[in-house]
Amino acid sequence: DADLLLGVRVAPMSGGLVVVLADDLTDARRVEAIRRDFVANVSHELKTPIGAVSLLAEAVEEAADDPEAVRRFAARMGIESTRLADLVSQIIDLSRLQATDPMGRADTVEIDDVLIEAVDRCRVDAEEREVTITVAGENGLQVMGDQQQLTTAIGNLVENALVYSDPGARVVVAARRQVRDDDYVAITVSDNGIGIPTDQLERIFERFYRVDYARSRANGGSGLGLSIVKHIAAVHHGDVAVWSQLGQGSTFTLRLPAQHDHDSEQDHDQDPD
Ligand code: ADP
Repeated sequence: DADLLLGVRVAPMSGGLVVVLADDLTDARRVEAIRRDFVANVSHELKTPIGAVSLLAEAVEEAADDPEAVRRFAARMGIESTRLADLVSQIIDLSRLQATDPMGRADTVEIDDVLIEAVDRCRVDAEEREVTITVAGENGLQVMGDQQQLTTAIGNLVENALVYSDPGARVVVAARRQVRDDDYVAITVSDNGIGIPTDQLERIFERFYRVDYARSRANGGSGLGLSIVKHIAAVHHGDVAVWSQLGQGSTFTLRLPAQHDHDSEQDHDQDPD
């Protein structure tokens, strides 16, 4: 209780209580700081596609008697508008998340439902890109949290796995129970796609960060997908990690505290790893 009054952040202990108020206090300050530079980033990022669209509109006017050029500029405008629309919808997602009370909605969530729904959302895109998605791992795992947010997080990881892979690639989504200091559900999304340079692995979770501007832009990326994933992980007292090798592929792991099933005996604390 003394820790609560001081606003000290107390890490969740194995099998112990999570100190909610202390966490919320820290979150409130952090969220405010995040919000301030988020607004600055957003204004900057919106200017690029908006600027491109208005330049292209001028170009169309000037090229009125060259139908081929008009067609080219119009196609380019379509791409920029799609990019703008995606960007705006991700900005809305992220700002909604930032406004969420971290402990606001905490229901029992079936991980099977999350994986099925997330993969379903990406199915059309996967078919177009000729990438196979497989769901593997354990069934019946549960966490406490917000099902919509968790589906968004896994959906973003699967979408990236598709986008940064070549036709014929394979994406595997799997959930496993992982017992170390604590009891976790680890959801991995693996691809055998283009991979990420080691020196940039830490930066990819930053808002608006893209590994290679040309390569990501060609895919219409906003650079917000992974920061949304990271935010959802934090809100759920979990984390997200990445392993990647250039040219070989990437594996993203979202770890969430498992929901302890009080009805069953303590049968899962002898796992050696
Ligand atoms: P974007 O909208 O650009 O995909 P993200 O935040 O989702 O933004 O990802 C940030 C960057 O991380 C991407 O631009 C991409 O370069 C890299 N990245 C993310 N996921 C993968 C992946 N599965 N394989 C290769 N690179 C990836």
